[in-house]
Amino acid sequence: MRQYDMKAAPGEKTVIELKVTDQTSIRVLVIEGKEPGKTLVVTAGVHGCEYIGMEALRQLGQELEPENISGRLILIPVVNEAGFYAGARQVNPFDGKNLNREFPGKEDGTVTQRIAKVLEQEIYPVADFLMDLHGGDVNEKATPFVYFPYETEEAVRDQARGGAASLSLPYRVRSSAKNGFYSWAAQCGIPALLLERGGQGMWSEREIEAYKENVLELMAHLKMIEMKKMSQKNRKRSVSPITWKHQNVVSGIRRSKKLVRSSKKVNFWDN
Ligand SMILES: [Zn+2]
Repeated sequence: MRQYDMKAAPGEKTVIELKVTDQTSIRVLVIEGKEPGKTLVVTAGVHGCEYIGMEALRQLGQELEPENISGRLILIPVVNEAGFYAGARQVNPFDGKNLNREFPGKEDGTVTQRIAKVLEQEIYPVADFLMDLHGGDVNEKATPFVYFPYETEEAVRDQARGGAASLSLPYRVRSSAKNGFYSWAAQCGIPALLLERGGQGMWSEREIEAYKENVLELMAHLKMIEMKKMSQKNRKRSVSPITWKHQNVVSGIRRSKKLVRSSKKVNFWDN
């Protein structure tokens, strides 16, 4: 049963903290457009050392203005916070489990199984579309690609494939996975995608810009924004090839104010 109302007032942003256990919660940013429309959920940090999606969502959460959006954008920049702070490759350090192998979740299970259950209960029911951003883990280096599910209801598969086709990525890969965050969502009737970009515990401004662009592309596909207006603004940003190493990323995100470039901020990471 749902315990949270995953909404903000029209034209506003709000942060909702989904409690999992006494030590674990999931922080969610809801950006509520002024006009009605689809609800898109975009997540990152299912794996705690995959930084590009996390930083892309953190920046988008600050930069996107609700008045430019139709519908609702729900962002979860770091699904697995314990894994992020521990620098734990692919797992949650409390139970050693990989969240992307633990769906469907268990209410009375380990912390990772409980996180899965909370996501199923609170996030799936409100999502018209779900996109999960991965970053190639510290032992991987991924050419950018998108997985879309194909062993699912035809309508879900077609919508997911349509969403994948709207993204500027070089490869689209059919997936038969069923026990991950996005893949179980597809089994539950929600069009869902998993993107991969980067790896080795690194990030670059160019990769972050590319992920931000992918989110905007899907929002445009779902008629939540006008792409032309948004992407032109986005493309004005300087693109730098600087690559940060693991510790810089972690401390950089923790000291997020130093990275803020937007004039309008939402109090998210400092909560
Ligand atoms: Zn991953």
